[in-house]
Amino acid sequence: MVCFGHLLFKPEALSWLFILHNYMDLTDNIVDNPFIRPHINSAAATYDIAFDPEYMDLAVATSHLTGEKINRFTHIQQSRDDMVKKPKFLRAIGRKTGTCFQRCVGWDALNTVYSVSYEIDQKYGTDYHERVCNYVKYIQKNDLMVVGGMTDPKGDRGLPPHKQPDPDLFVHVVEKKEDGIIVRGAKAHQTGAANSHEILVMPTVSLKPEDKDYAVSFALPLDTPGITLIFGRQTNDERKLGTLDQGNPTYGVVGGEALVVFNDVFVPWERVFMLGETEFVGMLVERFATYHRHNYGACKVGVIDVLIGATALMADYNGVPKASHIKDKIIEMVYLNENMHATSLAAGYESRALPAGNYYPHTMYANITKQSITRYHYEICRLAHDITGGFIATLPSEKDLAHPVVGPMITKYFQATAGVPTLDRIKIGRLIENVTGGTSLVESMHGAGSPQAQRVMILRDANLEQLKKLAKDIVGIDEEE
Ligand code: SF4
Ligand code: FE
Repeated sequence: MVCFGHLLFKPEALSWLFILHNYMDLTDNIVDNPFIRPHINSAAATYDIAFDPEYMDLAVATSHLTGEKINRFTHIQQSRDDMVKKPKFLRAIGRKTGTCFQRCVGWDALNTVYSVSYEIDQKYGTDYHERVCNYVKYIQKNDLMVVGGMTDPKGDRGLPPHKQPDPDLFVHVVEKKEDGIIVRGAKAHQTGAANSHEILVMPTVSLKPEDKDYAVSFALPLDTPGITLIFGRQTNDERKLGTLDQGNPTYGVVGGEALVVFNDVFVPWERVFMLGETEFVGMLVERFATYHRHNYGACKVGVIDVLIGATALMADYNGVPKASHIKDKIIEMVYLNENMHATSLAAGYESRALPAGNYYPHTMYANITKQSITRYHYEICRLAHDITGGFIATLPSEKDLAHPVVGPMITKYFQATAGVPTLDRIKIGRLIENVTGGTSLVESMHGAGSPQAQRVMILRDANLEQLKKLAKDIVGIDEEE
């Protein structure tokens, strides 16, 4: 095993990591592969920040299991203070990276499984919670990065797992052995999988008793035999082969998602955290979704802070910072962004303890937060495009800029306000293009669940019957009479 930066990789394990990509050579040093490297840098920011005195209060927590100081990304949240620090912490990293830093999904998975395993044990006398506690201690002690394995491919969305023509479209148990279980299936869109140490798998939809084999939660190192990672493409990802053209050369865009396939993989019993308790799956899915939706009014807000800064800079470069319509559009961007952060903070301030003792966000405010992201993020990007102009859609490439004949032409004709280097204007334009581009926006729409999933929760928590009663009481309608 070698240490690269703050992340650990096993070069001998590369035979199981299939990066099926036209532009990748499997014999390359994978950590320096330009398609993966930005995602590694972004994840590494979650390690670096824990050593930055300015952010230590947010980034470092105390383990309730060992009393040791730990990176907050491995913490089981113990108080409202923890739940308010979480969005502040994520916003701070979003402001530094300008993109997804991936490590929150596994953090939310740990808190979810910690709580649900406790409640399963209460009902069945199982020992899942003790296994989860041991796993959490291991993750905390070694400061590991965990993928939250939630989303199954799902096949025909109208059919439950056991009725799918292909039974592997949801992760399931295919064999129980003396020392553990064998699992098969896949998890899709796995943020940070290519540069994480572990995956913590959970079911993705509520299940009926007939789906017992699909009610399984477990954790494994990502280099376990039988696991294959297939790295996803992104909008304009050939740009990663250059630097300037990709807009955010150090940290890239979104999380470097992968399809993670489990082909008859062995899981030892100490890593199994749920097995067949279908009635707890709905609770687990809701918990994970709520934890993760809480985050979107934080990490994305930090990224949008970068976007607002870039857009305001572009207005400066273009010589129009004082134009009233430009100022008004920037005010609107700030207004929408702070609204999203406010609901995320509210979800933390109104959090509550679960039976296992760990804290859980206010479900209505967490869902409102994520729902707002699916709408306001698009609106904020629209305003950024409006202010920036067509410039970002037609910019020549980095190679053109370096060309001895056309380079000076680009520099001459893309200059704006006197004294601003054209190169700076191009860099900011590319950054705006990156943050407002396809992959980035789609992630805001569908990460932590598609918009309709939040609307179902909003309707449930709105408690319309109670609201109807308020109206009846005011006008004196008495149903008893
Ligand atoms: Fe974390 Fe945000 Fe990325 Fe989700 S989208 S993993 S919350 S940074
Ligand atoms: Fe996400």
